[in-house]
Amino acid sequence: MDLIKMTTPLVEMDGDEMTRILWKMIKEELILPFVDLKTEYYDLGLEHRNETDDKVTFDSAYATQKYGVAVKCATITPNAARVDEYKLKEMWKSPNGTIRAILDGTVFRAPIVVKGIEPCVKNWKKPITIARHAYGDVYKGSEMKIPGAGKVELVYTDDKGNETKELVHTFEGSGVVQGMHNLNDSIESFARSCFHYALDTKQDLWFATKDTISKKYDHSFKDIFQEIYDAEYDDKFKAAGIEYFYTLIDDAVARVMKSEGGYIWACKNYDGDVMSDMISSAFGSLAMMTSVLVSPDGKFEYEAAHGTVQRHYYKHLKGEETSTNSVATIFAWSGALAKRGELDGNQELSDFANKLERATIDTIESGLMTKDLALITSLENPKVLNSEDFIKAIRVKLEKLI
Ligand code: NAP
Ligand code: MG
Repeated sequence: MDLIKMTTPLVEMDGDEMTRILWKMIKEELILPFVDLKTEYYDLGLEHRNETDDKVTFDSAYATQKYGVAVKCATITPNAARVDEYKLKEMWKSPNGTIRAILDGTVFRAPIVVKGIEPCVKNWKKPITIARHAYGDVYKGSEMKIPGAGKVELVYTDDKGNETKELVHTFEGSGVVQGMHNLNDSIESFARSCFHYALDTKQDLWFATKDTISKKYDHSFKDIFQEIYDAEYDDKFKAAGIEYFYTLIDDAVARVMKSEGGYIWACKNYDGDVMSDMISSAFGSLAMMTSVLVSPDGKFEYEAAHGTVQRHYYKHLKGEETSTNSVATIFAWSGALAKRGELDGNQELSDFANKLERATIDTIESGLMTKDLALITSLENPKVLNSEDFIKAIRVKLEKLI
């Protein structure tokens, strides 16, 4: 069989622990036998990040700006325990944070829907994609404990020393106070990434804040989205047959519960943090969530939403069998290959990516799955496979489709 040719390389970001083991298996069993794979390889495994003083992470992000599409394996975000474990020179920053800051992107998370893994919310038929703004608000807040009676004010001092003040509260006893901020530039990038991704995936876009209560802060988010939509996206959305729709956050939550899914829900930072965990657990499993970082100028980085599955890796190191779910990592590859195919006008590559997804879904729907899914499936008598046999079972289905 002739291998499918690629014209532009994918940026490949390798990672850590169990997902690094899966990464190699996926390439060997599901990609290399079919595609003449071209990648520009960056090893973001923690040892190599440490050796390069984390330069490799920056380089991989710059390569993504250059080529436009990347696929990333899960990586360790070091904490104190990891500094000891890997004898690190420094507690290197989260690679995802570094890459997101360089690409100025928004993360979109969507569940992979298969028959037999039913959402808890029975009317959800299609995936709900969460877009979380990744800058500011309470995550960059400053806080104080107020010990007793006194006055708290917000003070803005401009370049020339002019002050504008706003009373927060006149305390008569003890209490707490918090100041937070956001930037118009960041909100604009967030809005553009959301509009871009909605057009890209041909799904409606919902956005919600608490603008009725927060008449300046949240209202600015609402206004910025609307201004950009009217000026740049209205025609494009109409041509694509999709809708942009703003509502109050409480109304959005109620509507999401009653919907059948199939749209993107854009959330402010805190709402996105909370709601993405609700959506992923209600859809079944973190191991079935995909994640893609989209920059406002349309660069894409695909990955799984879960981490490096450390517990399974330690079992693997002890020579014990693992049954780790590779679906979200496979979909990171298929998402990246399909996007590369689309950008390069390489239909054969996009078709292959779709078949890889089909084969993965068919495998689960035929009752072959990893342990995490077997525990929650509504299919009768599922067969639990180990990490490697699950990927091999997908290969059997894929060969039939090709
Ligand atoms: P995790 O890797 O997401 O795993 C947490 C637990 O969820 C696992 O122990 C496992 O449960 C279950 N799980 C997650 N993915 C699974 C899969 N594919 N198949 C089967 N079960 C799965 O989170 P963690 O263990 O807390 O974090 C490990 C490392 O990942 C950390 O160093 C963290 O920094 C990193 N991390 C990276 C990313 C990223 O790169 N995007 C994201 C999150 C975390 P059971 O043990 O019950 O089987
Ligand atoms: Mg959270």
